[in-house]
Amino acid sequence: MENERILLSSPHMSDQGYEQEYVQEAFDTNWIAPLGANVTGFENELAELVGAGHAAALVSGTSAIHMALKAVGVGKGDVVICQSLTFSATANPIIYQDATPVFVDSDKDSWNMNPAYLRKALEKYPDAKAVIVVHLYGLSAKLDEIMEICKEFNVPLIEDAAESLGTTYKGKYTGTFGDYGIYSFNGNKIITTSGGGMLVSNNEERIAKVRFWATQARDQARHYQHSEIGYNYRMSNIVAGIGRGQLKVLKDRIAKKRYIHDFYKEELKELSQISFMPENDWDFSNYWLSAITLKDVNPTYLMDELEKENIESRPIWKPMHLQPVFEKYDYIGETVAQRLFETGVCLPSDSKMSDEDLSRVATVIKRVLSNDKG
Ligand SMILES: *Cc1c(COP(=O)(O)O)cnc(C)c1O
Repeated sequence: MENERILLSSPHMSDQGYEQEYVQEAFDTNWIAPLGANVTGFENELAELVGAGHAAALVSGTSAIHMALKAVGVGKGDVVICQSLTFSATANPIIYQDATPVFVDSDKDSWNMNPAYLRKALEKYPDAKAVIVVHLYGLSAKLDEIMEICKEFNVPLIEDAAESLGTTYKGKYTGTFGDYGIYSFNGNKIITTSGGGMLVSNNEERIAKVRFWATQARDQARHYQHSEIGYNYRMSNIVAGIGRGQLKVLKDRIAKKRYIHDFYKEELKELSQISFMPENDWDFSNYWLSAITLKDVNPTYLMDELEKENIESRPIWKPMHLQPVFEKYDYIGETVAQRLFETGVCLPSDSKMSDEDLSRVATVIKRVLSNDKG
């Protein structure tokens, strides 16, 4: 019998059917679009949960980063300092704004932006218009140091918390430290609306402005009047209904992701070739994905062996400064991000996994690493 496929991270709707209740409400009132009660509800509920002043629900995390850059006034030719080790969606909006990214290395103990290299980057580009830090796989960046440096150079901080909804840094939610924070509800994230994003900030006026830009920048007038370029970036009332339902199970999802991480750690602790993602006393991670780095074993070999058993795994993000589309831009740092990419593997961390599934994964890893053919 063919083994059932084990996925990295896939949508997981609530057992209670919360999402369907909110979506049904939208259907019953024929209010599937535009906007509507679920959009406002989702914005308020998420803002309250994380402790952000205001929130704008958008079509994606990517559009939220784009709007954050616009909100801080990033435009043509401006420099934006960006963590290199991330998904391309963090950096692409810099190009949408005709700005210039400068990429910064990670550090070993957070896997995220190295504050010392951020400082170097800002010394080299003191007129930088924004800094984008990422909290990869649910690990928080060194926010105290990063915020202090941003303050010193008087540059706004944008937190890409697409992967870290629910992660806290010293007891406060990631995404709420910077001038702007963004979350993603894409299909593989810790909670999902099928697709969607949220921009949060304490700046009420800017969030209102983002809502304006995101609905085609329609001026207050009976006719269609425009004095700025707009975007069609608003979340639909149906999608927001799914989000409201998913918010109710976020705590359960985090608990399960943490359980998965603990399970792997316990099961694989004897394998000297494996190091787990960092654990720091400053953060309480949502462990969106459990990631490891390997010593003396080729990660591709492990990923191939897992695939043969119908188990999905994935490398760690390939840094932006090594991507063909971004390699012409400046990079400040050494080889930490590159080494993480070259040695890392994201293990399946699907919140629907049973103990049996987890054991299946652990068994393959143990077999592969004890033969050690990497
Ligand atoms: C998923 C993700 C995004 C983009 O979010 P979308 O909702 O897919 O547009 C941005 N940054 C990081 C780090 C992500 O993982």
